[in-house]
Amino acid sequence: MSDCIFCQIIRGDIASEAVYVDERCYAFRDIDPQGPVHVLVCPREHIARVSDAQPTQEDLLGHLLWVAAEIARQERISEGGYRLVINCGVHGQQAVEHLHVHLIGGRQMAWPPG
Ligand code: AMP
Repeated sequence: MSDCIFCQIIRGDIASEAVYVDERCYAFRDIDPQGPVHVLVCPREHIARVSDAQPTQEDLLGHLLWVAAEIARQERISEGGYRLVINCGVHGQQAVEHLHVHLIGGRQMAWPPG
């Protein structure tokens, strides 16, 4: 989608610090990191919310989680653990309407979230 900020990042029209790229997804560092490691893993195709994903995109959803775990290994936070978050819609406080998995780690987390 042309005016989606993450589509613009994926196209390279807006600068980002990429940490992992393949034919299906693009992962880059969050501009406002909530931990020493904070990466957003996005599908290249525009899916606004996880709730919009279609049955044909089931493999893609799994791929995003696999890539997040791979980046965690790359960033050396696997052993200590980390958090994966997908915010969805208004109650989920999703600010950017392009599906993304937050990978946050490198510090102790609290639970439950606010
Ligand atoms: P969410 O609330 O789940 O939609 O998260 C959106 C995330 O995108 C936030 O953590 C923002 O800090 C991050 N963000 C917004 N604009 C940019 C950008 N230009 N580059 C990197 N991260 C961004």
